Amino acid sequence: MQQDTQIFDLIEAERNRQLNGLELIASENFVSDQVLQAAGSVLTNKYAEGYPGKRYYGGCEIVDEVETLAIDRLKELFNAEYANVQPHSGSQANTAVFHACMQPGDKFLGFDLSHGGHLTHGSPVNFSGRLYTPVFYGVVKETGLIDYDAVAEIAEREKPKMIIAGASAYSREIDYKRFREIADSVGAILFADIAHPAGLIAKGLLGDPLPHCHVVTSTTHKTLRGPRGGIIMMGKDFDNPFGLKLKNGNLKKMSALLDSGVFPGNQGGPLEHIIAAKAVAFGEALTDDFLHYMVQVKKNAKALAAAFVAKDYDVISGGTDNHMMLIDLRNKNITGKQAEEALGMAEITVNKNMVPFDDKSPFVTSGIRIGTAAVTTRGLKEDDMTKIVDLIDRVITNFEDDTELIKVEAEVLDMMQDLPLFNG
Ligand code: PLP
Repeated sequence: MQQDTQIFDLIEAERNRQLNGLELIASENFVSDQVLQAAGSVLTNKYAEGYPGKRYYGGCEIVDEVETLAIDRLKELFNAEYANVQPHSGSQANTAVFHACMQPGDKFLGFDLSHGGHLTHGSPVNFSGRLYTPVFYGVVKETGLIDYDAVAEIAEREKPKMIIAGASAYSREIDYKRFREIADSVGAILFADIAHPAGLIAKGLLGDPLPHCHVVTSTTHKTLRGPRGGIIMMGKDFDNPFGLKLKNGNLKKMSALLDSGVFPGNQGGPLEHIIAAKAVAFGEALTDDFLHYMVQVKKNAKALAAAFVAKDYDVISGGTDNHMMLIDLRNKNITGKQAEEALGMAEITVNKNMVPFDDKSPFVTSGIRIGTAAVTTRGLKEDDMTKIVDLIDRVITNFEDDTELIKVEAEVLDMMQDLPLFNG
């Protein structure tokens, strides 16, 4: 068969871009060779609507074993009582939770997108904001931290049916115990979205939501370092937190609601090749090597934030407890968009990001978001973080000077030259 050179040349070009550049996008990472192999396997050929042992298709004996392994490894990793590994993405995991826990029009309380929340936490351009009724909490302007007393007040006033704890751009610990007290005080379901810090939580390096939240979702491709995808879990509230009764008087199981929220609620056939890759990644995440990796991710983020602060960058909340940080560039006279573009010219990849109380549009923004998950996979350590901040600072202070951008690019290429891409 003829090779599709158009596409495979592009894949090779992307491989080189990843190999040569400095990847600082907080939501990205590099998977191992094993994860990549499973994701590119013949399992992509298989239809398997349903769940292990209860499929709507024949020939599912092997994928049943694959999916069961993924579920068991995930439960072990997070000490979860229930796990669903089928969501195609973090957004689809969240859609399934809404499906299971809410009726269209119901009110919920989420983290404001412009303060660090995610589109699926109530943005008007997303299903969550269009089909349901969101109200929001945010951070305090002076500290950049969530004000839990304010969250409690809003919950008391608005009486949401569900509260979401979790973020795309919040660099501090989230107090799930406090969130649970607030949720209990108004009888709300507490839903944690740990898409970003999941790997750190799995290894005990950040507070654990499982003992406090009714339901927890995550992506698998950020700090967890798996293939692109989503997952849903439950901890101690398994299996009927609200004593919901079916018409026949039996208890309605939350796990069954979540399973049917995924399939048939919002997906058809699961991606068994991706589920196999998730299983491989969960297996890797269970090892001590992954613990060492996560410890280094956190050390690198602390070093990076401290180096930015030392150069008078406004790191929101003054630092980080996890793998990321948000930087307000307004004192540097450059927008997030300009910074993203200039850094891109020097092979440094970041994303522009709204900062709390931003006065610019989401297409321009006043900030950038930076994370250390990917560069740590490449093998970089604390000393390299200081060097990275020097390079970023040179780009930001000279963003209109092409000669300086080319010089920085050469230094980036030199820095990344001998570092392997995948660490399988
Ligand atoms: N939830 C949070 C907090 C996220 O940050 C993200 C992705 O950035 C998602 C959900 C959605 O994940 P996906 O892009 O896989 O739909």
